[in-house]
Amino acid sequence: MDGATTPTAATVLILLGPPGAGKGTQARMLEEKFGLVQLSTGDLLREAVAAGTDAGKAAKAVMEAGDLVSDDIVIAILRDRLEEPDCAKGVILDGFPRTTVQADALGALLEERGQSVNAAISMEVQDAAMVDRISGRFTCGNCGEGYHDTFKPTAMSGTCDKCGSTEMKRRADDNAETVAQRLDAYHAQTAPLIAYYERSGALSRIDAMGAIEEIASNLSQVVTKVTA
Ligand code: AMP
Repeated sequence: MDGATTPTAATVLILLGPPGAGKGTQARMLEEKFGLVQLSTGDLLREAVAAGTDAGKAAKAVMEAGDLVSDDIVIAILRDRLEEPDCAKGVILDGFPRTTVQADALGALLEERGQSVNAAISMEVQDAAMVDRISGRFTCGNCGEGYHDTFKPTAMSGTCDKCGSTEMKRRADDNAETVAQRLDAYHAQTAPLIAYYERSGALSRIDAMGAIEEIASNLSQVVTKVTA
């Protein structure tokens, strides 16, 4: 592997930003570029809902309403996932933490492992653009690659550029009404984490309104710096 772009095993990055900021898209690009593992609590919760676990049953209606799932459930899911061996490569947290309780719990979990947050990167966007970004998005049901009707269409309509699957999915909570609630939840409960990580000295900010590749390049610079 290329030493210049390979962070140490203990790297922990957080992507902060409202729904639609591009956290998932960018986390997947960072995953490939830096050999880190993307941990999306939204994905883990959707898997739990699909599997019909107790956590999934408790989370389903909350997610459909665009509210935040309880801290206890999300922290337990994240803790279990962090224990899996692939996370030793280092992780990019996408959608976690979303409350100060979760941020405190993350700090304690990492401390037990002798780790800490290398960077919390705030992806700065304007709310007005978020509804358009979210309402056009879809993912490949096979490999999980993310697309957007306008900003990142597939090369061939209905076919994944990466794996060739034609099984495309749109999220049930990506409708205008739920998106508005998710944005409200972000401002009320998650945005205070920007000041939280600023106080701890881990915060970086990037402009996340531009083109996907431009944002990826700005993010890579931050990641390269904090993992050097
Ligand atoms: P996301 O895929 O990150 O947009 O998350 C989808 C939904 O899952 C959110 O609207 C919440 O209902 C729930 N969710 C995901 N991550 C968290 C979290 N860290 N804390 C609470 N709820 C979460």
